[in-house]
Amino acid sequence: MRNELENVCLLCGKQMIDRTGSLNMSNNGGNDFKIRHKEHIIQNAIGGRLKSDTILCESCGSDLNVAIDVDFLNILSSFTEKMKPVINKERNGKSKNRINGLHIPSNQKILYTHNKVIPKKPDHKICDRLKTITLYARVEAMKGFRKAKIKELITKNSDYENYKIQEVTEFDYDDLVSLNFSEGVSDFNQKWSLGFIKIATEFAYLNGVSRVDLVRTLDLQNNKLIDTGNVFPYFPIGVFDLAYENSRHLIEDTFPSHTLILFTSANETGTFSLFCYVELFSTFQFYVLLNDNYGSEIHEIYSQKATKNEKTELNIETYDYKELISLASDLEINPSEFTIDQIDEFRHQLILAFENKQSNYKVDKGATLEKYISILSKNIAMRDCNKIDSTNTFSELLPAKYILEFDEETTICLLLESKEYLNDEGSINIKRYRTKFVESDGGHGYKTMSTPIEIMKCLKRYDAHIRQYCHYKFDIFAKYTNELL
Ligand SMILES: [Zn+2]
Repeated sequence: MRNELENVCLLCGKQMIDRTGSLNMSNNGGNDFKIRHKEHIIQNAIGGRLKSDTILCESCGSDLNVAIDVDFLNILSSFTEKMKPVINKERNGKSKNRINGLHIPSNQKILYTHNKVIPKKPDHKICDRLKTITLYARVEAMKGFRKAKIKELITKNSDYENYKIQEVTEFDYDDLVSLNFSEGVSDFNQKWSLGFIKIATEFAYLNGVSRVDLVRTLDLQNNKLIDTGNVFPYFPIGVFDLAYENSRHLIEDTFPSHTLILFTSANETGTFSLFCYVELFSTFQFYVLLNDNYGSEIHEIYSQKATKNEKTELNIETYDYKELISLASDLEINPSEFTIDQIDEFRHQLILAFENKQSNYKVDKGATLEKYISILSKNIAMRDCNKIDSTNTFSELLPAKYILEFDEETTICLLLESKEYLNDEGSINIKRYRTKFVESDGGHGYKTMSTPIEIMKCLKRYDAHIRQYCHYKFDIFAKYTNELL
């Protein structure tokens, strides 16, 4: 753990002072002081609200911004372009939005732009069996392309005159589309990983992990953030997570959100692996391994909405007493604490609580999980009483098919996991989230596993599965941003 009083810059290791203090300290026995700077741990451009002036000095903050943030935000902006008006940020930035990819069924190169999948270049395909010619081009280019291409083909072979012509100007996103948002970005993997490394390292440092313990992300010799092959994707390896990820966009009224979890997983040797789970827009989910041989346990979680709260007016003067009581209940204020003489004070407290609620962007992850577990248990119980069938979609949001498809072993895992999430007092054990899962041991028993350690072990084996999952997550997010229009 680092010494709070020490307060040195994460990157250069030099003592930081306030700008106002700099004059008095400037001739302090040759000591090299740096000016502290307010660092956004999740980038401001994507609505990050967690800030601290105990992390980086002004010059290192600006160096890291140039070295990492600019490229990272550029990659992310392809996805977040549409969210610009609703992102909860303090300043405006620039962005671009185009992703290359492949439409798998037709093997056509595509561009993903403005939430549309369009052909990248004009192309054609001939099927002699079906006697069809398929033309691919974006809508503006189709007319000219069709004229020239058909003429060219018929000159070569007059049979083509009888072929049916099909035009494709846009692909259905629900088809198999593989997006390759790394294309055209040099050192894509490095830039993408360093973005997550920066967030994870700063969050760990904020929570007291010392510079010397950040062995996998911080090069102390060269004062640099480094990629040591320690960033890997999260995917729902356990069934509880799988069911949750399938429905969270429906359950969470704070979707999309940013979440950071700093935690340790026990190693077989008695030490711990220190990880940070970084989730941006409830969509981009990665683990960053910070230290494989850490000395003590730690758990810190931060979660916030990525979007602005909608501002509504409160015209409290127009409220009658009954409406005030109802508002108080929404704002969790107890009206019986105020006598009838204190009605003005009551109103004042309501206004304060209302304003507070409007500016609150924090997400209570525990409350979300509690809601999910309650829906899950109810639905399993309903299924077991044969009250649902595959045509039924739950009024309570969790898609019926997932529950119906679960076999007995899976259902037991779900119920065990739900039980593990609840403390004796019935409150949520948040330390379990993204850190552990229950799995059948192949016999009649069940065991608890570390989520990141198990994912690390089978990254290669589950490569296709992980890709499919990322595609699914991105699709949900794309649909969400589409609906914003
Ligand atoms: Zn510095």
